[in-house]
Amino acid sequence: MTLFDAAVIGGGPAGSVCAARLASLGRSVVVIERARHPRFHLGESLLPASVGVLDAIGVLDEVRDTFLVKRGARFVEGSGGESARTVRYAFGEAFQARWDHAFQVPRDRFDELLLRRAGACGAEIHEGCEATRVVFDRGRAVGVEVRGDSGAGQAIEARVVVDASGRDAIVARTTRSVERISHLDRTALFTQVRGAWRDQGEREGDIQIVVFGEGEERGWFWLIPFRDGRTSVGAVVSGAWVRARQALGAGEALFAAAVDEAPAVASMLQGAERLFAPGATADFSFRVGARRGDGWVAIGDSGGFIDPLFSTGAHLAMHGALRGADAIHAGLAGGDLNAEQLEPWEREIRAGAELFIGAVQAFYSGDLVSFLFAEPQHPFLRRAITSMLSGDVFQSDALWVREMRTRFPARA
Ligand SMILES: Cc1cc2nc3c(=O)[nH]c(=O)nc-3n(C[C@H](O)[C@H](O)[C@H](O)COP(=O)(O)OP(=O)(O)OC[C@H]3O[C@@H](n4cnc5c(N)ncnc54)[C@H](O)[C@@H]3O)c2cc1C
Repeated sequence: MTLFDAAVIGGGPAGSVCAARLASLGRSVVVIERARHPRFHLGESLLPASVGVLDAIGVLDEVRDTFLVKRGARFVEGSGGESARTVRYAFGEAFQARWDHAFQVPRDRFDELLLRRAGACGAEIHEGCEATRVVFDRGRAVGVEVRGDSGAGQAIEARVVVDASGRDAIVARTTRSVERISHLDRTALFTQVRGAWRDQGEREGDIQIVVFGEGEERGWFWLIPFRDGRTSVGAVVSGAWVRARQALGAGEALFAAAVDEAPAVASMLQGAERLFAPGATADFSFRVGARRGDGWVAIGDSGGFIDPLFSTGAHLAMHGALRGADAIHAGLAGGDLNAEQLEPWEREIRAGAELFIGAVQAFYSGDLVSFLFAEPQHPFLRRAITSMLSGDVFQSDALWVREMRTRFPARA
């Protein structure tokens, strides 16, 4: 039986970036993906800080040729209709604006592009193949049991198992180390439309984030424009909001109720053609006990999920995957990969994730909303928020990072 250097569970952004990097460093890699790409996925708005990752794995030109460029994020106080307060953050104003843009990516195409890139770099790709169990021997991960489309089982041996299974978080759920983050029990209601309002010129690719409601019932919409004229639209609402509207039933009526509460969204959607009935998905933020162990590492959502308010998931996934691949490669060079070799990597990724968690919590508690919409805006805070929205959160010694941590500390 082949012994791979790495078996990667999941061919989303985390798994594909990790596999592409490891394979291009000369490692033997197998990717096990339950679905067959292209497949639908939420999470279409990328951050500028991910552009360097796309460059590092050699897909930046293709991404630029395929997707709409995003240069900013515009926040709208949605209950106000025509007179709504708005503020736009342009990525070029971030403290270290190495990349002043990102991309809006329908995930079926984007994820397929990344997975094919991993294959082109030399990774062996198995789609329609589910990992059913990570195999441990005396506490060390040594491989994965998989089941193909035909239902036939098989074992894959690997020196390192990379859990990139997204919110399935196969390792953390098996070891029962998933901890929900309190007050972030949300539901997302989503659809796509054609012909929604979008800004013009440089601002065409902006994400629109429309805030509505107060207190426990504060929610928000995303409108993410795509190059082909479609727009992804979703509402993120609290458990309390859903419970108060239980009589309405499921996705369709709840989505309509949210639009009614945000006149700014209703006017952006006026005349647009809906492409499918609204779906609903649970959107619980969670941390995991450990993102690494002897012979294994959890990257992307499998190492923790954060409410998508600031479009952070794909960035944490891809940045963590690239850095994780380098740490795995270095660790394997010395023999077996041990948990302590991955400690600096985990510290870095956790610090970035915790900054985002603090900001999301401060948004729902109301503390951050006043800063987002402040008029006039304090120049330093404006640039600090822009830097966070750009995803530049891994420089823990930067002044603005310390300021954000102090103002908006992450809570349990
Ligand atoms: C409502 C909502 C909106 C979001 N909006 C944004 C956004 O605008 N921007 C953003 O950056 N992020 C957003 N996110 C988050 C984003 O979707 C994720 O953070 C991102 O997809 C994480 O990538 P990943 O590779 O870790 O996981 P995924 O993209 O989920 O990929 C995991 C892959 O693993 C496969 N898999 C799972 N279990 C197994 C198994 N046992 N065997 C084999 N394969 C398996 C799955 O089929 C999947 O392809 C949003 C999330 C939600 C819920």
